[in-house]
Amino acid sequence: MFQEYDVIVVGAGHAGNEAAAAAANLGSKVLLVTMNMQTIGQMSCNPAMGGIAKGQIVREIDAMGGYSGIVSDKSMIQFRMLNMSKGPAMWSPRTQNDRMRFAEEWRIALEQTPNVDFWQEMVRELLIKDGKVIGIKTQMGIEIKAKAVVLTNGTFLNGIIHIGEKQFGGGRAGEKAATGITEQLIALGFESGRMKTGTPPRVDSRSLDYSKMEEQFGDQNPRKFSYSNSTAPLTTQRSCHISYTDKIVHDILRTGFEQSPMFSGRIQGLGPRYCPSIEDKIERFADKDRHQLFVEPEGWNTAEVYVNGFSTSLPEQVQYNALKMVPGFENVKMFRPGYAIEYDYFPPTQLNLTLETKPVKNLFFAGQINGTTGYEEAAAQGLMAGINAHMAVKEEGPVILKRSQAYIGVLIDDLINKGTEEPYRMFTSRAEYRILLRQDNADLRLTELSYKSGLATEERYNRMLDKQEGIKQIKKYLAKTKVSMDNLNILLNSLGSSPVTQSNTLQSVIGRPNVSIESIINHIPETAAYLNNFDEEIREAAEIAIKYEGYIEKEQEMVDKITRLENIKIHPNVDFRSIQSLSSEARDKLTKIRPLSIGQASRISGVSPSDISVLLVHLGR
Ligand code: FAD
Repeated sequence: MFQEYDVIVVGAGHAGNEAAAAAANLGSKVLLVTMNMQTIGQMSCNPAMGGIAKGQIVREIDAMGGYSGIVSDKSMIQFRMLNMSKGPAMWSPRTQNDRMRFAEEWRIALEQTPNVDFWQEMVRELLIKDGKVIGIKTQMGIEIKAKAVVLTNGTFLNGIIHIGEKQFGGGRAGEKAATGITEQLIALGFESGRMKTGTPPRVDSRSLDYSKMEEQFGDQNPRKFSYSNSTAPLTTQRSCHISYTDKIVHDILRTGFEQSPMFSGRIQGLGPRYCPSIEDKIERFADKDRHQLFVEPEGWNTAEVYVNGFSTSLPEQVQYNALKMVPGFENVKMFRPGYAIEYDYFPPTQLNLTLETKPVKNLFFAGQINGTTGYEEAAAQGLMAGINAHMAVKEEGPVILKRSQAYIGVLIDDLINKGTEEPYRMFTSRAEYRILLRQDNADLRLTELSYKSGLATEERYNRMLDKQEGIKQIKKYLAKTKVSMDNLNILLNSLGSSPVTQSNTLQSVIGRPNVSIESIINHIPETAAYLNNFDEEIREAAEIAIKYEGYIEKEQEMVDKITRLENIKIHPNVDFRSIQSLSSEARDKLTKIRPLSIGQASRISGVSPSDISVLLVHLGR
């Protein structure tokens, strides 16, 4: 019934979908096996994509030729560029999405991808021969052969759902947990751990009084994630709303603490520090007597509403009693209660930079199974695992993104070198080269690499080249276009910027904080004819490149310095245990992680600068 596939992807969540699409678009024959085809691309938690640091990841996935940006654009109901009051390194796109359309767009995208076959069933076991994966075995006992397998089981491995004192097996509300795989992997020598995450109740918008809440509009000039022209910005948007908890709400929630699975010790796995449950917030920040709640619609046409900030696993009656005290929620009707879920993960230090496991060849892990949290983090890993599974099958070189190239590079480098004991989510602070890794330039950073690997299409590549050329032309124009003193001062006065005393080029004023290319077009009409030839996105990218030139150059110099360390390679067979001058912790960690360069070794926690000096001496440097 089944042919032998190049790549089998287990799980059709954010990681699995990107993995399947990437491997198939590169030319592999792919089988996507998932427990329930109705939940392909399901958003398990909030109906939103992007946000701080995560928005940059979605743009990177898009620049590489992945689908998350396109799917998000096609299903968005609101767009906001966060952090616009800060420097461009911090600008982060975020969409509110229609949950059902998001899943539908994923399914359509995958069904339209040649080379992707589907099978709905639970995978129970991996087929392994001579230390190499050769396929999967399903719940019905069907064996399907493949040259590589990508596991993306999300929160499903031995998942247990908790609501108050109730607990039952499940991978997500209304879905079964997956069993068998963890046990087999442990028998093969893998380490595993437990983590937990939670989600808030969903409520009926028809029962809410929005007049008691603050309205949160989308951007006036909404944009989109994808650099391609296959999607368009929104012309109408749906608003979100903001309300707040108060002392009364907190007191009601406290009445459930005794039955809380978190406080009673029934949940052992660690949860996401930066996405705490409401009970956690009340307990940890006892001095705060209110917390913000974002009331987010789940789509264009549905009455379902997501209460962001109210994640909880307290008993459902306590959730309901507390919610009723929130302004605007007096008559609330719940669709379903919030819950927490505990699941197995595999410490990612057991992986190579390609996301292939060290113990089993051609077996790749991506997404929440690696201890991360978030759709974007999962999708990014799926993309890279899909690319590298294809490369392994075709015996071509791996595709690895550096920390200086992409947030995706930071994510994977952190995971495999440092591991994680609590759900890992991306922040801008995790990246040391934030000014290089901006949302406006992900295509300039990554599309060429992806095109050369065979994933990004020629159309994408050409669009990127056009943008590059456009930025060059705009810079040249601003450098050579001289404007009279009077005209320059009309512009500067309107922006409250100090006047000039002689005519000068446009480049001489664009570096000022409040002078933008848009303001030049608006106040010096003779520039409009030329500058309007370029898309807004290209004009903005040019402006950022000019305004931040000094910082960008400085960061690039640092990258060049660090690259020298990355280029000092360590032979894969070095016996770190025999290097006596290394600290014993460094010997253990280096043996476990097996870094391939001095740069990588220097980022392993527990490997000190003096250990690095020892390694350099050992390598004859
Ligand atoms: P998933 O999206 O979980 O997809 C896993 C897929 O694998 C599913 O399609 C499943 O059917 C399939 N599958 C699993 N096992 C098998 C098997 N053996 N055989 C066949 N198919 C299988 N993220 C945040 O950033 N913030 C949050 O607050 C947050 N809260 C969450 C709350 C809950 C209750 C849950 C469930 C998740 C939450 N997440 C949150 C996490 C977010 O949903 C995940 O990070 C993201 O979905 C992970 O993507 P993934 O592709 O790794 O796994």
